[in-house]
Amino acid sequence: MLYIGSHVSFKKNDQLLGSVLTAHSYLANTFMFYTGAPQNTLRFPISEELTKKALEKMEEYQMRLDKVIVHAPYIINLANNDLEKHQFSTCFLKEELKRCQELGISNLVIHPGSHVGSGIEKGISFIVKALNDCLTSDNTVTILLETMAGKGSEIGSRLEELKEIIKYVNDKEHIGVCIDTCHLHDAGYDLSNFDSFLEEFDKIIGLSYLKCVHVNDSKNERTSHKDRHENIGYGKIGFDTLLKIVHHKKLEDVPKILETPFILDNAPYKEEIAMLKNKTFDHNLKKDEH
Ligand code: FE
Ligand code: FE
Ligand code: ZN
Repeated sequence: MLYIGSHVSFKKNDQLLGSVLTAHSYLANTFMFYTGAPQNTLRFPISEELTKKALEKMEEYQMRLDKVIVHAPYIINLANNDLEKHQFSTCFLKEELKRCQELGISNLVIHPGSHVGSGIEKGISFIVKALNDCLTSDNTVTILLETMAGKGSEIGSRLEELKEIIKYVNDKEHIGVCIDTCHLHDAGYDLSNFDSFLEEFDKIIGLSYLKCVHVNDSKNERTSHKDRHENIGYGKIGFDTLLKIVHHKKLEDVPKILETPFILDNAPYKEEIAMLKNKTFDHNLKKDEH
């Protein structure tokens, strides 16, 4: 079965219920959200009542909670060598894992972090330390490390770097990977032969660790290290390649999440999800923009 959805908002007043209703309006059967603003760490308490209502709606819409993804805010940096900042990020991640657990969510995506000058090796050791601190025995949530475009000093633009992190994480049951098509392309991976990419992934990390796909086109050429997402089929990766990834047999159980840009202030997800489901490119999606 195809599990496909997009990033949706999670607001204080309606929380998970609002996210479910938005996803359903896009005809999605899964979704991803930040538990607050993606760029800050201010978070509000989870309402049990709203969660209960959301779960009822999900049952009605036949959405599976184990396919839903939470994304940690991108300002937390586990690779930071500044002790205070590192501790702040670790604390936040612990709280985020608890919030996921309260909501019944099993997968939390996180950007591995930026080493900000201290080097990849040191950065990786800080990330590992934070992850091992957070993955306590009572935790039920899996942390998914996202593949990055390699902007600045970002760690995780090479599969080997993620492999190195996973190698030193004690709790292998609760660590995994989220591949982002835009980031992989911008990092230099050729996705046009996706079978050979998956083979490489399997050889280096192991396919069983792949738990989520972010489906985005890219505004830039391969190896640009820019990380600017484009709408499906309107960028340098192209519709055919993205279509093959979304429908790949080996990734059938893996949720696919769109994080493409809004078009003229409107969410494009209903149309983009339809394109990927129907396997037909919509040439008119962006024509008004020019
Ligand atoms: Fe991300
Ligand atoms: Fe992403
Ligand atoms: Zn990105």
